[in-house]
Amino acid sequence: GAPDDLTQVMPTMVLDRQPSALATLDARAISAWFGDHQVLDRVSLNMPAGAVTALIGPSGCGKSTFLRILNRMHELIPSASLAGEVLLDGADIYDPKRRLVDARKSIGMVFQKPNPFPAMSIYDNVVSGLKLTGTRATRDEKDELVETCLAKAGLWKEVRDRLRAPGGGLSGGQQQRLCIARSLAVRPRVLLMDEPCSALDPTSTRVIEETMLELVQDITIVIVTHNMQQAQRVSTQCAFFLASHGKPGAIVEHGDTDAMFSDPLDSRTFDYVNGRF
Ligand code: ADP
Ligand code: MG
Repeated sequence: GAPDDLTQVMPTMVLDRQPSALATLDARAISAWFGDHQVLDRVSLNMPAGAVTALIGPSGCGKSTFLRILNRMHELIPSASLAGEVLLDGADIYDPKRRLVDARKSIGMVFQKPNPFPAMSIYDNVVSGLKLTGTRATRDEKDELVETCLAKAGLWKEVRDRLRAPGGGLSGGQQQRLCIARSLAVRPRVLLMDEPCSALDPTSTRVIEETMLELVQDITIVIVTHNMQQAQRVSTQCAFFLASHGKPGAIVEHGDTDAMFSDPLDSRTFDYVNGRF
């Protein structure tokens, strides 16, 4: 009858309603190739718990590739290969003993183009992740989860009266917040966001930025952005990627966001953050 015995018979994934512990993601010497074309060269970056890390740099320097490697999403591209390690609180997500679904569950991803299931209801969009991860939840637990996640994504008040309406009927900014809510439903410890506001108007962008600043109290965030004001508004630290003269992408400089914008060490960083490139 001891609680210890009980945990032995429980399924591995039950709906976990405890606040998750903040997690650190640590990329070590990541190199990446598409076929024999190398696109990243020994990129190391520590993304500390409870911080927003912004990845900046010109198009084509490997930011999206790096982000996808952080939750094994690049494995969907058959020609992609990599060297290096990604440690989530010290444990390599590429360890063959670890299941892919665990990495994807712990490390969520939001893309540039909002991609809710358009015909699926708002409610079902939020709970859809549970099916993918095989997590059990009762009807009441789902109701609570939907409200919590939509509230965290800053969308609850706008949609509480039409949870059965299709996700595709929302505005672009609302759809993006629905995607954030859907990611949150599987209780990720890290949220990766690839230009999440590039397709949105300035008002929706600010709403999402405010959401991020709330979320980062529970979840470690990594965001790719081309918007330098946004990087300054939301991020704690910044990494500047560059792929110069046909070389693979690498980090030129990284550090505290304020320092990077006010006093960059490298002249190429200075030129980029000041729009001279
Ligand atoms: P960024 O996000 O910084 O714009 P990407 O990571 O998308 O950069 O791309 C980095 C490099 O990898 C580019 O040269 C791009 O053409 C190449 N690349 C990206 N995705 C693929 C793919 N699926 N197949 C082949 N090459 C790719
Ligand atoms: Mg990209």
